[in-house]
Order: sequence, then C-alpha cells, then structure tokens
Amino acid sequence: MKCKVCGGKAVISLRAYNSALCEKDFISFLENRVFKTIKKYKLINDKDKLLIAVSGGKDSLSLWYILNKLGFNADGMYIDLGIGGYSDLSLEKVKKMSDMLKRPFYTFHLNDAMGKGIEAISKKIKRTTCSACGMIKRYIMNRVCLDKGYNVIVTGHNLDDEASALMGNLLYWKEEYLWKKGMMLNEEEGHLSKKIKPLFLCSEREMAAYAVLCGIDYIYDECPFSIGAKSLFYKELLNRLEDNSPGTKLQFLKGYLKFIRQMNIEKNRREMKYCINCGYPTVSDKCNFCRIMEKYGIERNIIFEEYRPTYEVFE
Ligand code: SF4
Ligand code: ZN
Repeated sequence: MKCKVCGGKAVISLRAYNSALCEKDFISFLENRVFKTIKKYKLINDKDKLLIAVSGGKDSLSLWYILNKLGFNADGMYIDLGIGGYSDLSLEKVKKMSDMLKRPFYTFHLNDAMGKGIEAISKKIKRTTCSACGMIKRYIMNRVCLDKGYNVIVTGHNLDDEASALMGNLLYWKEEYLWKKGMMLNEEEGHLSKKIKPLFLCSEREMAAYAVLCGIDYIYDECPFSIGAKSLFYKELLNRLEDNSPGTKLQFLKGYLKFIRQMNIEKNRREMKYCINCGYPTVSDKCNFCRIMEKYGIERNIIFEEYRPTYEVFE
C-alpha cells in the first residue's frame, strides 16, 4: 500500500477518502482537517479564551496537542470522578501533557468537593452513573469558565461519538437534543460558555492512529461505567455500515448539519436568571445542580486545584 501523497510506504488506509497515507502525510492530513473544521465552521475567533476538557484519553489529549500545534492556546480542565486507579492514572496522563505543552490545567476532585465519588453520588441522587456524571461535568465546566474567565469549552468528541449520539437521538426522536445538536452550541447565548467540538469530522480510528504515531501517552482503558453503554452498541452498528460502505458516518453527520441549517431551526430562547445559591445562569430560581444536590443533601465546595507546569507560557 503506497501513500497517495508521496508514494512512500502507507501506514493507514482511509477508505472514506479512498486514500492511504504514510506517517508524515497522515499527521498533516489530520491536523489540517482540524484546522479546516475550525475555520469552515468558525469555531474559534481571535478573542476567545479556550478551556479544553481533558479526560486523559486519546481524543482530548490529542486535541489539546493539535490546538497547541496550530497556535490556538488552550488551558485544560480535568474532572477527577473518584474512580480509584482509573482516575489517578488519567490525571497522570493529563499532567504529562500539560508539562509537555507548558499549559496549565484545573482539576476538580469530586471526593474532596462533594464528599463522594461519582458512583456514590449517582446512587444517592437516584440517577444512572453516566447521567449524574454528565450533569456534574456540564456544571463544573461552565462553572470554571465563569469563575476563571474562559468563554469557550472545547471537547474531544469525535465523529464516532457524534454519529452514535445522533443515531440514538433519531431512533427515539429526542427532539430536545436533535435540534440543538451541532458542532458549536451557543446554548444560552451571552450567559453560558460556547461549546465546540473540533474533532467532529475525525473518526475514532483516525484519532487512535494519530495518538500512537505522535507518541501521545494516553489512558487505554475506557471508564468502567461505559461497559454496556448503548452508545458503544450504536458505534458497533455504525462501524458495520462503514465497513460495507465507507464514508457513511461522515455523510450521516454532514447531511444532518446541512438539514439543520436548511431548516433554520430557531432555538427557543427563555429568559435567563441567576441561581440564588451559586449565581450560575438558570431558567428558574435555583440551578439544576444546586436543586438536586440540595434535595439529596450532598455537600458542594466548588474548588479547583490549579496545576502549573514548570515552564509555563505567559501571554
Ligand atoms: Fe462519566 Fe464514565 Fe459515564 Fe463517561 S462512561 S459519562 S466518564 S461515568
Ligand atoms: Zn446553583
């Protein structure tokens, strides 16, 4: 198999693009893809202050690395869910990348701030672990942006994540999610941070190859609570479709975005207030997070530990 660009030995075949590339050209291809996505969809502007949610996995760490390489400065945010050795090892990987990029990051330790890890919290508030985790992560990410002066949350969701989420939302016609599912969500404009997903056109396989070829040290294990998740089943189904007809996932997502644009769907804007407990933007008197944690008597000291690499770059 020869590289389509230089004729050298190809290390990866990209059937969706009817192409195969050598190590050097694949790395350029992927970085270029991220750059073009940012430019085409106007994800970042000059004044934006970026905060990237890093989990220690291949996608978020690679994205942090790529953004830095492309000249977009981003600081990190790691949420320590208190899942024993898994969380400790993830944090180590994040620290290593922070040192390498010389960019600081914040950590929110659930055990310290809320007295319990994610499993115990979810039991207490009677939600599934992933649902509790999603709610807490959303709150904490927005909270750190508001408190520390960032206005954009960057996440490492890739093509497979987005395609499987879209599939799930379509299968069950979850309208409340369907119409706001984009690569850039200005949910409550002017109040909450903008959320962007610059990897939404890069597949999981491409991201894994990129991380390995660039020597990015990431945690291979998945979160133990992801076992049996529906999203993994949808990913498997989509991969079977992709095997049969390469390019299906890209078509699925791009077609959806085009449809959303053409329909020009207006989001319902509701009047925003501020939570009487914590000052967080909300549509009622108390934000969802405060309401639930208060109801089940869970403490919450919102404190962020700051990690500063030795040779930090100051702007
Ligand atoms: Fe949170 Fe783990 Fe569930 Fe992901 S799989 S939402 S990290 S608990
Ligand atoms: Zn609140």
